[in-house]
Amino acid sequence: MYNPGSMKAEEFIDHDEILETLSYADEHKTDRELIASILNKAKQMKGLSHREASVLLACELEDQNQEIYALAKKIKQEFYGNRIVMFAPLYLSNYCVNGCVYCPYHLKNKHITRKKLTQDEIKAEVMALQDMGHKRLALETGEDPIHNPLEYVLDSIKTIYSIKHKNGAIRRVNVNIAATTVENYRKLKEAGIGTYILFQETYHKESYQKLHPTGPKSNYAYHTEAHDRAMQGGIDDVGLGVLFGLELYRYEFAGLLMHAEHLETVFGVGPHTISVPRICPADDIDPSSFDNGISEDIFAKLVACIRVAVPYTGMIISTRESPAARARVLELGVSQISGGSRTTVGGYVSPEPEEENSAQFDLSDRRTLDEVVRWLMELGHVPSFCTACYREGRTGDRFMSLCKSGQIHNCCLPNALMTLKEYLEDYASPETKKIGEALIGKEMKTIPNQKIQNIVTDRLEKIQAGQRDFRF
Ligand code: SF4
Ligand code: SF4
Repeated sequence: MYNPGSMKAEEFIDHDEILETLSYADEHKTDRELIASILNKAKQMKGLSHREASVLLACELEDQNQEIYALAKKIKQEFYGNRIVMFAPLYLSNYCVNGCVYCPYHLKNKHITRKKLTQDEIKAEVMALQDMGHKRLALETGEDPIHNPLEYVLDSIKTIYSIKHKNGAIRRVNVNIAATTVENYRKLKEAGIGTYILFQETYHKESYQKLHPTGPKSNYAYHTEAHDRAMQGGIDDVGLGVLFGLELYRYEFAGLLMHAEHLETVFGVGPHTISVPRICPADDIDPSSFDNGISEDIFAKLVACIRVAVPYTGMIISTRESPAARARVLELGVSQISGGSRTTVGGYVSPEPEEENSAQFDLSDRRTLDEVVRWLMELGHVPSFCTACYREGRTGDRFMSLCKSGQIHNCCLPNALMTLKEYLEDYASPETKKIGEALIGKEMKTIPNQKIQNIVTDRLEKIQAGQRDFRF
């Protein structure tokens, strides 16, 4: 029985409710009147239920689909402006005891090179990331209690925050590690993590069990209830995600939104981010062996419908996607992207020789961070290296209430411009710097509050003179 307030996975992600939602959406996919009323509700920018959003996803009326895209763009502008937050993944170890059939790190893959970074190697990776200009990382590691126990992750976080190399600093470490206990989440919180991210992969329990035949991750309920335990351990920013391509995308979409509704019902705060990875090639993995792959058009519609359904939730895409696919969804609602990523263990210091392969997936976007930053600016976006909310304690419900009050605008653009200025001063190529300076000049004029504009002008001068780390 569907119950968003339940703490049991099978009740807050209720299979029958998803099936009913899908048939309801099918029945109404050309119901002009209903779709118009859902769009009207969505225009209030307070979100939609999984059922309402599923009708929009199924909608087959071209003019109303265009309205969905237009609304997604409007919400993106309203809540995020043209800012895009930058981050990079850091792979610590690819040892893993699980048997996930879509991931090259699965235990039985014997032709992948297994690696685990030492603390010295982590230092070197972090300095390489700082030299690129990154300030925000997502830590990634396989699940292996012997090779990668929690203590290893905690030591690594400490190492990362301790490195101050030239003007560099990692100011926010998000963590993507296996489902664990409340006690361990508490330790991660104490270590100062930003968001705890865990992808569900698929919400379809039967498929989940087939795709995760062995290892601790095979326990669907334990995995699905992990964000609850993270919240109970004091982590108030959690990230959701599914791996599109494993199951029917409409099923996953409904499940994802039900998960968001569950977090909102139980903890009063929805997910901080939603990631939208699609399955892609990797060692031992052929995406064509998964028959639920989604086209570029469906991917764009998914992103637009997520944007409309949960306006306050950041949306993330990785370098799995090509530059063209990224450009399209950036407009429709994605607010964070990775740049200059390496998905190999130790790949920032030493790119891997051909015969080795420790990557979790093949990159579709192989550009440097400088190239990605320049490309974003040429498309009219403002790359942001801001980490201010986390560092000012604006997390969880404090972040959400600030976001919902509209006051976030007084922080985000100034912070984006100041962190972009730091990037331009310290790391950018001359060409990127030229484009960036012009962009900052133009964007400065759009800060509505004159007092804030004056403060930012002053701080930009100070950054030029060598000072760092200003924030609102
Ligand atoms: S998806 Fe994660 S848990 Fe599964 S094999 Fe890959 S690294 Fe391990
Ligand atoms: S001010 Fe907060 S919400 Fe805005 S970009 Fe910075 S960290 Fe994100």
